[in-house]
Amino acid sequence: ATPEKNDFIRQIVREDLASGKHASIRTRFPPEPNGYLHIGHAKSICLNFGIGREFGGPVNLRFDDTNPAKEDPEYVEAIKEDVRWLGFEWAELRHASDYFEVFYRAALKLVEDGKAYVCDLDAEQVRAYRGTLTEPGRNSPFRERSVEENLDLFRRMRAGEFPDGARTLRAKIDMASGNINLRDPAIYRIKHVPHQNTGDAWPIYPMYDYAHCLSDALEGITHSLCTLEFEDHRPLYDWFVDNVDLVRNPHLYQPLVDAGFSVPAAKPRQIEFSRLNINYTVMSKRKLLALVQEGLVAGWDDPRMPTLQGLRRRGCPPAALRLLADRIGISKQNSLIDFSVLEGCIREVMDSASPRRMAVVDPLKLVVTNLPEGHAESLRFANHPKDASFGEREVPFSRELWIEREDFMEVPPKGFHRLVPGGEVRLRGVGIVRCDEVVKDGDAVVELRCTLDPDSRAGLPGADRKVKGTIHWVGAAHAVAAEVRLYDRLFSVPDPDKDEAGKTYRDYLNPASVRVVRGWVEPSAAALAPEDSVQFERLGYFTADRRDHAPGTPVFNRTVTLRDTWSS
Ligand code: ATP
Ligand code: MG
Ligand code: MG
Repeated sequence: ATPEKNDFIRQIVREDLASGKHASIRTRFPPEPNGYLHIGHAKSICLNFGIGREFGGPVNLRFDDTNPAKEDPEYVEAIKEDVRWLGFEWAELRHASDYFEVFYRAALKLVEDGKAYVCDLDAEQVRAYRGTLTEPGRNSPFRERSVEENLDLFRRMRAGEFPDGARTLRAKIDMASGNINLRDPAIYRIKHVPHQNTGDAWPIYPMYDYAHCLSDALEGITHSLCTLEFEDHRPLYDWFVDNVDLVRNPHLYQPLVDAGFSVPAAKPRQIEFSRLNINYTVMSKRKLLALVQEGLVAGWDDPRMPTLQGLRRRGCPPAALRLLADRIGISKQNSLIDFSVLEGCIREVMDSASPRRMAVVDPLKLVVTNLPEGHAESLRFANHPKDASFGEREVPFSRELWIEREDFMEVPPKGFHRLVPGGEVRLRGVGIVRCDEVVKDGDAVVELRCTLDPDSRAGLPGADRKVKGTIHWVGAAHAVAAEVRLYDRLFSVPDPDKDEAGKTYRDYLNPASVRVVRGWVEPSAAALAPEDSVQFERLGYFTADRRDHAPGTPVFNRTVTLRDTWSS
């Protein structure tokens, strides 16, 4: 059994259930659909959906779509796909934009209660009035407008009478607050921009800080989990929740109820945890978008990208991301996770989940001269060395084979245990061959002519004879040509985010992050379906490309090497 997770958030949830504060809990994952999800989001998804699963609480997927200029239905669809791919299913799919009418009514209530006002300062003036960390802000000259005037102006903002940026609706809190977020923050801004969900219905849009907490309250989210940068926003979160008070003002959300939404309104509690940061990559949506737009990668799902689409295409199993989330845990401590921790999780999952196959990525011909011309036989190989449930397969063996070029050296260094002129090596699952002759074309080795010791064939007593090395091979007569994409880290430095000496992350791209080669695979590897994964023995874990692979015309992505080649 897996040990019960017990981070500080789960402790809070446990206490809230034990004390009866909540009879049941609810969480949500709230992405803004302004880009593709990345591995950092996976941490938040695993946390919210994991807690839902462990404590029997429903989890909503909510699109925090309050900033229409940057949002797109393409992102909405990709995010839904990614959450499911990670292995989770939401109780309800919601959009903050489903609640626009409620937000508007709630804002009217704040105006009526004298807690919000329409301000005519422009963005620059607002900034100047806001003050600094050490200096209090100054009241806006529009702060004391009457409720009637505010109501009239706000209704006209909603009616679309004013141009973008002409006015804002602001919360009337405290311009001298030590917390700048409480210095009369904006609630609504004017933006004549069509919205991916509501079209042209709204010329004004709510600010994130206002919409997010009220969405949580409407959905009855008990534990609103977010990353640490929102810690300073928590007082504002609570201010909006308390002053709108949806629980005691159900008329505010009546339109939602009428439209058939379930609205289990409750007071949510925001709890912050630290973000996932990983070295050798960048994680902000802005930088990922730039990589795509500037053609520095092949798209959002480029297998080198830290996006979930990229990781998926590379072949990273979703279970590896869940394992990573478990392994790094949840805390308030900011930390930088080593890329090798992710790779370790991928290896661990793929080791037990992937059948073994043989492939050669840099082929050199080997001819077994003591087999008759045209000789071919079929050998049985176990598909997994530690798990018989993977079964066995037929591997065609023939007189001519492909071996890996680096498994032969004419002038070997000390300690080279593979094939050398006059030397012996074991062909995996076959027997021992001796290299009798090296055929060259100029300086290039083009063929090795070998004899197979018939007494060393697998299953015979002589098979136990000791030789230093074992190499893999593919029978040339039946081999299927494959495109093999050898991926490595996208950046060559641990901290590509450091902008020093006039350099940016663009300058730290790893020039060797992808190498495409033509190799040979055994027939049963060529027959795999897109997204099937294998361990190509001695080479690494590979996954049939989701888009370009087809049975018979294989394309494999190297997901991860067999061991960590960076830290040694
Ligand atoms: P980015 O900063 O990369 O653009 P974001 O925080 O703006 O991402 P959202 O769509 O707002 O992206 O995030 C949805 C949820 O995922 C939020 O609750 C956010 O806190 C969480 N999240 C985003 N990045 C990380 C991360 N690196 N680690 C953990 N959680 C994250
Ligand atoms: Mg965001
Ligand atoms: Mg952000």
